[in-house]
Amino acid sequence: MIAVPDLKKIKVDIDKIENDLTREKKISVSMLRLDKIHPVISGNKYFKLYYFLEKAKSAHKKIITFGGAYSNHLAAAASACKALGIDCIGIVRGGESKNLSHTLLLCKENDMQLEFISKEDYTKKDSELFKKQLIEKYGEHILIPEGGFSKAGVKGAALIANFYRKKDYTHVCCAAGTATTLAGLIKSSLSSQTIIGFSALKKIDDFEQRIQFLLNNSLYKNYCLNTDYHFGGYAKKTDELIIFMNKFYHEFAIPLDFVYTAKMMFGIFELIKKNYFSAGSKILCIHTGGLQGNLSSPTKTFNF
Ligand SMILES: *Cc1c(COP(=O)(O)O)cnc(C)c1O
Repeated sequence: MIAVPDLKKIKVDIDKIENDLTREKKISVSMLRLDKIHPVISGNKYFKLYYFLEKAKSAHKKIITFGGAYSNHLAAAASACKALGIDCIGIVRGGESKNLSHTLLLCKENDMQLEFISKEDYTKKDSELFKKQLIEKYGEHILIPEGGFSKAGVKGAALIANFYRKKDYTHVCCAAGTATTLAGLIKSSLSSQTIIGFSALKKIDDFEQRIQFLLNNSLYKNYCLNTDYHFGGYAKKTDELIIFMNKFYHEFAIPLDFVYTAKMMFGIFELIKKNYFSAGSKILCIHTGGLQGNLSSPTKTFNF
């Protein structure tokens, strides 16, 4: 078992991504390698969990959280709780199948107790009744919303900005699911910077309301959500995306995940081609990790 990263001590690499395209367009592209901070508790998930974990540790409480069978969030929560000696329960969307996904097996290995509920019940998971039933069944606990979607999650995600010099970048880009990480980056940005979220879903329902909730009805205007590079929707992939990922690894030796970071990088390169960024732009891409998700693809899909 590998200890959780100590955010006060670790250094995170920033890799340069340079090729003919970036040189021709005079754009600087760099990548903050949050994927390297831990094999499972990697990327943005650890940041979103950070304050929940602190609270669970100091209050000696267990954690309950939610996710699907391939959830990076569940995998990270299980692994972090194990390392910190916190009991945790994962409520999984959809009935239990005979063969557990590699993600859920990993959760189990880390002693996460799994409870499977139907897709229909899962839609009710944020209701007061459901929460009451969780207390009756599991006792006092700390509840982490699916994907860490919460203000505490934003506060944790805002810590990501401690790992780069803000004034070095005109744009900061991240992949977006619940948009919690994006909100954390917006919160910690300079007003002169533009923060771009690349949606991993066809569309993020109520995106603006989400941001307003997460950021307490703030007046930030320096952000946008790009929904052009979802490749058919959440967790969908095409041959074009796979070829891009393999080429990206070949060129830069950086592995991407097909659900989030590959779609963001594909989108950034396309936008550079289309002159979306003016010459001289300095783009920081956040590698939010999630590489365990690639294991759901057949073995020879990726060359890394
Ligand atoms: C979960 C995840 C995201 C999405 O983060 P949100 O805060 O939910 O928008 C992005 N990248 C990776 C690799 C993830 O696992």
